[in-house]
Amino acid sequence: DRKRQMKPKAPSYMTFDDIGGQDRAKHELKEALDFLIRHEDIKKFGIRPLKGILLTGPPGTGKTLMAKAAAHYTNSVFVSAAGSEFVEMYVGVGASRIRDMFKEARMRAQKENKESAIIFIDEIDVIGGKREGGQHREYDQTLNQLLTEMDGMHSGEAPRVLIIAATNRKEMLDSALLRPGRFDRHITVDLPDKKGRLHILNIHSANKPLADEVSLDKIAEETFHFSGAQLESVMNEAAIYAMRESSENVEQKHLSLAIDKVMMGEKADRETTK
Ligand code: ATP
Repeated sequence: DRKRQMKPKAPSYMTFDDIGGQDRAKHELKEALDFLIRHEDIKKFGIRPLKGILLTGPPGTGKTLMAKAAAHYTNSVFVSAAGSEFVEMYVGVGASRIRDMFKEARMRAQKENKESAIIFIDEIDVIGGKREGGQHREYDQTLNQLLTEMDGMHSGEAPRVLIIAATNRKEMLDSALLRPGRFDRHITVDLPDKKGRLHILNIHSANKPLADEVSLDKIAEETFHFSGAQLESVMNEAAIYAMRESSENVEQKHLSLAIDKVMMGEKADRETTK
């Protein structure tokens, strides 16, 4: 049966066990990470090294968690940035930030004595959107710099670098990014099914006192179409309701209120972006 004891404070790194559901995505990612781990075999078989993995799927499904877990799994340093951080008014600044990010990854790997580095770029679509009709945009240079860095990456000597990028809008990406030797492995990170939702709810309730009446199974049933991030919010909001009431435990009524709140928040978000 479900454990109700409190878990000790979470460590600062992320493992694949801390990610609920996503069994297929986790499996595919681990398989791809073999490229980093089994680099000797990759060489022996003359396999083209893997440079980039693209994670696609709706917001809040755990793409960032996956990239962090990948770093822990492969004993790599983890360097991360969001596409929007490279967008600057002045020409060339984005490109030089890309260069700096690669430098930082290599430097940190050396300093921390690690053989590999994982660079995570969230919202890759911001810099990697389709370059249309000769329109010259500042971020063309940023994208070009990223492509140049990737083309210059060699699998041979340490530190080996792997880039994991995430997007909710794969169809927006420039085809240059998706060519072989660049982001040529795509892994879909979808909204969780019921089993996945239950797993995620279990993970995010492990540090909370739950009343015995609470059925996480029932909550997983009621939260169709919720993302992992929303499920985390449900558990958190429910705990806040419980605390405000000076209740001993998080009860079913707190969870029901929290589900409504998260659902309403979602609706309000949709309405303002209409
Ligand atoms: P975005 O596209 O908005 O950047 P994302 O897919 O990268 O989102 P994360 O940042 O990985 O999503 O997830 C946000 C938070 O939601 C996590 O810190 C975690 O608390 C929770 N979460 C999301 N997915 C899961 C999951 N599969 N298992 C456990 N927690 C999850």
